[in-house]
Amino acid sequence: MINFQYARANDVSDAVRQIAADPGAKFIAGGTNLIDLMKEEVERPTRLIDISRLPLKTVEETADGGLRIGAMVPNSDLAWHPRIEQRYPLLSSAILAGASAQLRNMASTGGNLLQRTRCYYFYDTATPCNKREPGSGCSAIAGVNRMHAILGTSEACIAVHPSDMCVALAALEAKVHVAGPSGERVIAFSDFHRLPGGTPQRDSNLAADEIVVAVELPPRGFAANYSYLKIRDRLSYAFALVSVAAALELDGDRIKDARLALGGVAHKPWRDPEAEAALRGQAANPATFERAAGVLLRDAKGFAHNTFKIDLARRAIVRALTQAARGTPQSQSDKKIR
Ligand SMILES: Cc1cc2nc3c(=O)[nH]c(=O)nc-3n(C[C@H](O)[C@H](O)[C@H](O)COP(=O)(O)OP(=O)(O)OC[C@H]3O[C@@H](n4cnc5c(N)ncnc54)[C@H](O)[C@@H]3O)c2cc1C
Ligand code: SF4
Repeated sequence: MINFQYARANDVSDAVRQIAADPGAKFIAGGTNLIDLMKEEVERPTRLIDISRLPLKTVEETADGGLRIGAMVPNSDLAWHPRIEQRYPLLSSAILAGASAQLRNMASTGGNLLQRTRCYYFYDTATPCNKREPGSGCSAIAGVNRMHAILGTSEACIAVHPSDMCVALAALEAKVHVAGPSGERVIAFSDFHRLPGGTPQRDSNLAADEIVVAVELPPRGFAANYSYLKIRDRLSYAFALVSVAAALELDGDRIKDARLALGGVAHKPWRDPEAEAALRGQAANPATFERAAGVLLRDAKGFAHNTFKIDLARRAIVRALTQAARGTPQSQSDKKIR
């Protein structure tokens, strides 16, 4: 491992001051992603700013009836928080579908947003990777790309964002509160992560001198009709091949409103307003769900090893929407492991 300095931030403004003063510095929260990347020499920060003790560990009511989740709330605390379980069970299910109980105990809300891709070549410093080393090339496009993206890819990068939690946050239209040298600003969740384009080294629109301080959930939690469906190679402890966050508001068997977000298919959680429009006002039945899946996947493009994801995503969308419409309870199996 390469030598680095270590410092603790006393409060948010101290954290911002420290990161703004040193372009080689990085925040460390739970460390479950960053430490692995440092061991592989993919990330080489000259200084770690420890934000794990910042007072950002509460879940609070907002004036409009939503919730504000501090950036340092651990993933397990969030998934098991009574207000999240009751009002935003989609978020709870998505978090519990990720990683393992031990990792979720360490992983923070802010860190989950900013975890980096699991593209094998990104981790392998012996191979070219535009995300790790801009301009070096993308090894995945002509290489092994079974886990890679089918939507929103570019000639520079076909990586996917690995988070489960973020797929639910995208469907719920969360907002990200960030602080920087000129104060706080709020970023809509759909604008937080980026598509790769020509700058795959940038995963998000967070500036280098900003810190995530909170995630805000709007009042609507779609708690009656929702589903988080994660398709993966193993039943647990594996990243998604495809995941679907589906949330419906029903009036009898008619869909009044719909949210649909996909994970494992793009460089960011994938939402498509046209696919959601194809659900609104329609009967909640398989024909409607198939149609919406077709709209969402109309521009999907596979590479040598991941074309199967297109059909997998179509079937996963139909199944998740069917479960959401029926109000099918989510699997409790993960919930046995606290
Ligand atoms: C074996 C394994 C399996 C996993 N499986 C899954 C899975 O199935 N699904 C899933 O969703 N995730 C999975 N994860 C990823 C895990 O959820 C993330 O590693 C975790 O959420 C990162 O949070 P952290 O607090 O540990 O972040 P850290 O490792 O501390 O930081 C990650 C990045 O975020 C930055 N950062 C952290 N907090 C802030 C902040 N407040 N503001 C600005 N920048 C910040 C850091 O500088 C760093 O760049 C897995 C991880 C491992 C190791
Ligand atoms: S897909 Fe992206 S992360 Fe993977 S090798 Fe290509 S540029 Fe790197």
